[in-house]
Amino acid sequence: MITENNKTCAVIGAGVSGLGAAIRMRNKGYKVTVFEANSFPGGKCSSESKDGYRFDMGPSVFTMPQYVDELFILSGKNPRDHFNYIPLDPVYKYFFEDGTCLDAYHGKEKFAEQLAAKTNDKKEDIIKYLNKTETIYNLTEEVFLKNSLHRLKNFFTWPVLKGILNFGKIGAFDTMNGANQKAFKDTRLVKVFNRYATYNGSSPYLSPATLNVIAHVEIVKGAFYPVGGMYSITSSLAQLAKDIGVEFKYSTPVKEIIIENKKATSIKTNDGIQDFDIIISNMDVYNSYKKLMPTAKRPAKTLDQPKSSSGIIFYWGIKKEFTQLGLHNIFFADDYEAEFNCIFAKKSIYHDPTIYVNITSKHTPGDAPPGCENWFSFINVPNNQGQNWDAFIAEARENMIKKINRILKTDIRPLIESEMVFDPRVIESRTSSAFGAIYGNSSNNKFAAFLRHANFSKDIKNLYFCGGSVHPGPSIPLCLLSAKIITGLIK
Ligand SMILES: Cc1cc2nc3c(=O)[nH]c(=O)nc-3n(C[C@H](O)[C@H](O)[C@H](O)COP(=O)(O)OP(=O)(O)OC[C@H]3O[C@@H](n4cnc5c(N)ncnc54)[C@H](O)[C@@H]3O)c2cc1C
Repeated sequence: MITENNKTCAVIGAGVSGLGAAIRMRNKGYKVTVFEANSFPGGKCSSESKDGYRFDMGPSVFTMPQYVDELFILSGKNPRDHFNYIPLDPVYKYFFEDGTCLDAYHGKEKFAEQLAAKTNDKKEDIIKYLNKTETIYNLTEEVFLKNSLHRLKNFFTWPVLKGILNFGKIGAFDTMNGANQKAFKDTRLVKVFNRYATYNGSSPYLSPATLNVIAHVEIVKGAFYPVGGMYSITSSLAQLAKDIGVEFKYSTPVKEIIIENKKATSIKTNDGIQDFDIIISNMDVYNSYKKLMPTAKRPAKTLDQPKSSSGIIFYWGIKKEFTQLGLHNIFFADDYEAEFNCIFAKKSIYHDPTIYVNITSKHTPGDAPPGCENWFSFINVPNNQGQNWDAFIAEARENMIKKINRILKTDIRPLIESEMVFDPRVIESRTSSAFGAIYGNSSNNKFAAFLRHANFSKDIKNLYFCGGSVHPGPSIPLCLLSAKIITGLIK
């Protein structure tokens, strides 16, 4: 039962964290209105259908489902009546040019056993490595994920102090690749663990070894498949928000956040100006300042950090079933370092890219016609700096098809009967992400976690920020945590 407090809250954007923030603020008693530029909720986590195929357009790997469940429980509902997911095992299939195929299972023991059997590293060494990533997780969860890094008082709790006192153990002074090369002899295993840098659009050759913690989250805590696909996360949260009384205004882009005497007071849309007690922006923070508050003092140090990578995605309807593939499949580049160098230093695309193919019809047969599969085929690319994307798309398509054909010993070209393409320009225009970067600032330096914008404004009262471009960072669970941190800050 919600106790009304007669105060109002505007949420700008119905991305996953905007939805999380709206649900949490409504539960605090606020009258909440969500303004969304698109005609649908979800932001990056949306869904489209074409020629009998359905695709999740953005995220595909689901971890830490408890942060979705929490929102239903908070609203007095049983999550299982509204949103369901199944654990994945195996989680990934990794393919290499030398013909190796590795199945990545859930849990330390099984994962290590399977990988040791097919590589030159020992099971004990893989387990030792996973134990180390678990230690990093335990030391960093409270400091970097669950609390605002920008409130001094948060540093005086025991779990946070423990994290700070053990800073030397979290790998902040090595790179992911540096730590992974020390841990493993087999270059295929180094690639498997280096790849987790891409989960926040960074390079394993530049980002701190602290990010090896992502391996722990996926391998040990587990990855899940939401029944009905990833879009069921945002569609069920949008429904929950509506059910508890949140008002949605779709196709209503916010044009301005009005600030008076250092206080955010109202927002402006094509429908006019509306006053609110609290304003939460789920719009990318760089563009929140640039487009909604162009005259406000901008925190240049955080906003102008180098941005993450982006992606070229082909949504292919494939008129055949491939039994050797699973839900999550990776086809690795031969020279991984050259690929990241191309993306981050040359701002270009690599001729032999690592390809991720996600096939939800493996779990939801209705996502493709009988005997067919829906391939979300993704490569990492630089963010949008005005490159010739049409030329890159044509080049990437050829390189991806050739690589998949080579590794699977097949010819997928005649099997592609339906196609849609996303590139950084589309991601930018569809979600207002600065430069089409998928994950906000990159984590390509050891201070990156401290250089993300806070969940509140230091200069403007009543103004808060959630989503992948602010603390604690991108991905569905972290975006939901940003919403949780905000509502903890609002008394
Ligand atoms: C291709 C791809 C793959 C990914 N893979 C994964 C994955 O496997 N696992 C994972 O956990 N995460 C993944 N991510 C990242 C994850 O999707 C994002 O971190 C997360 O969805 C971002 O949510 P958000 O709350 O920041 O909002 P966004 O999704 O960025 O949405 C912001 C919303 O705000 C709206 N908006 C912006 N400006 C305005 C305005 N002025 N007025 C009104 N509305 C506005 C936009 O229209 C949009 O709907 C992936 C993302 C992409 C694109």
